[in-house]
Amino acid sequence: MPIDPTLPYDPDNIFARILRGEIPCRKVHEDEFSLAFHDIAPQAPVHILVIPKGAYVSWDDFSSKASDAEIAGFTRAVGKVARDAGLVASGYRLLANTGQHGHQEVPHLHVHIFGGRQLGAMIP
Ligand code: 5GP
Repeated sequence: MPIDPTLPYDPDNIFARILRGEIPCRKVHEDEFSLAFHDIAPQAPVHILVIPKGAYVSWDDFSSKASDAEIAGFTRAVGKVARDAGLVASGYRLLANTGQHGHQEVPHLHVHIFGGRQLGAMIP
């Protein structure tokens, strides 16, 4: 079920619990602002999720409320994770499902990194 984007941040959402170490993940990167881990149900040979450490529901929340340092740190982390996964030469896709029409299911901002095979054309 897509999230209701009008609800306040839920501190018990699954990614908040991963951030607190209450639920395990296959971590690929962590820094001051970000955590990256493999998606539990990969849709491509490489399918990594990058999340900010701050309590942001969605891209809208993050882009309007996060500090410049958080936004810069998170953006650099997404690029680094893709580079470290060896995706730059062949290319990759970033996706941040946002709210109901974006079919966002977990109410903590996450950017999907897809790669490792030829991806289809973007059809909304
Ligand atoms: P959304 O539809 O919100 O953009 O994507 C949520 C993503 O989180 C899905 O790709 C789903 O497979 C992934 N996911 C959901 N629960 C877990 C979990 O407990 N661990 C990990 N690693 N990924 C999860």
